[in-house]
Amino acid sequence: MIFQKISEHEQVLFCHEPRSGLRAIIAIHNTTLGPALGGCRMQPYESEEAALEDALRLAKGMTYKCAAADVDFGGGKAVIIGDPRTERTAERFRAFGQMVASLGGRFYTGTDMGTMPEDFIHAAKETSYIVGLPEAYGGSGDSSIPTAQGILYAIQATSYFLWGTEVLKGKHFALQGLGKVGWKVGEHLLAAGANLWVTDVDQGRVDAFLQLATAYAGEVKAVSGAEIYGVDADLFVPCAIGAVINHTSVEQLKVKAVVGSANNQLATSEDGVRLHERGILYAPDYIANSGGLIQVADELYGHNHERVLRKTKAIYETLVSIYQQAEAQGISTMKAADQFCEERLYQRQVRNSFYLEQRRPQWELVK
Ligand code: NAD
Repeated sequence: MIFQKISEHEQVLFCHEPRSGLRAIIAIHNTTLGPALGGCRMQPYESEEAALEDALRLAKGMTYKCAAADVDFGGGKAVIIGDPRTERTAERFRAFGQMVASLGGRFYTGTDMGTMPEDFIHAAKETSYIVGLPEAYGGSGDSSIPTAQGILYAIQATSYFLWGTEVLKGKHFALQGLGKVGWKVGEHLLAAGANLWVTDVDQGRVDAFLQLATAYAGEVKAVSGAEIYGVDADLFVPCAIGAVINHTSVEQLKVKAVVGSANNQLATSEDGVRLHERGILYAPDYIANSGGLIQVADELYGHNHERVLRKTKAIYETLVSIYQQAEAQGISTMKAADQFCEERLYQRQVRNSFYLEQRRPQWELVK
């Protein structure tokens, strides 16, 4: 099974650097659109196989995410095997930088779960193919700002598709996770006059958010982690962990749509079909949460916050178009999104091979 997954990828690189203790894997899935781009995740994986599985799955996801966001990058991902609380050493990230450098520009990377932008200051001493560095080091900084803005556009697009209006005043949202993205999404929604049900495993975040909410007119109520799925809301906004749309939660949801930032919200692709059958509209995660990707991809042109936010607005149009295609074909929005990305990849492949064809006569002359 794992060998079949590897063969779907263009390149997989394993690295073991004993002096720093680095054990890492870089997976490059597809470079049709450009060099691979994907964050570097650090986790104490229980085995090398588990790390490889994760790298392969995430790299493939990046191919689709880049295609949907229409950036000139392909799909890749890196994983470092280790405990992010104790093993994020400068030496490891320098060794990781050398590993990235060895790919000669086929792979760009930066922060992801378990790593921080500051870690990549060390990696950037070894390679220039690092994105998302802190602003003081020439990078674009906090990606949760465009990600949250993109989620707001996705919510507005969904509201427009469902109710013919982008006005969110008086609507009710069930917001799961009040971290970097969820907090900002919550603030956007409050500013738009919405009411919220909120939950977070960190009670401190909940208390602080309830305090912030006193400055707004909308009503905000805190509920437990289990209750959030069944509240009487218009939209469910998952901004915490993956696989929250599963066999059990699909049946509990009373909302009209699911739009959030969490990666891999669907536990399985069947859960996307289940949502569709229950008449719940789903904003494919890799489209709704692509604001951060748009920001790091934009670093090629030098960083500019306003330009990034302008580009992030494309999420609105892309999503409406996916909803329309899914409706016209009677398929789930996830399937429509995958088809949309595969078509974009195919069109680029055709164009790439056209340019190759143009060069062929010269080779034949040489022969
Ligand atoms: P974060 O770690 O800052 O916030 C996550 C929040 O969720 C935390 O407050 C945590 O306490 C809470 N949480 C964890 N498990 C929970 C649970 N079971 N129920 C309720 N709350 C729970 O992360 P973030 O950067 O805000 O990212 C949120 C999600 O969006 C993640 O899935 C991430 O992969 C995804 N995402 C983030 C970005 C970005 O730019 N930061 C971009 C794309 C996707």
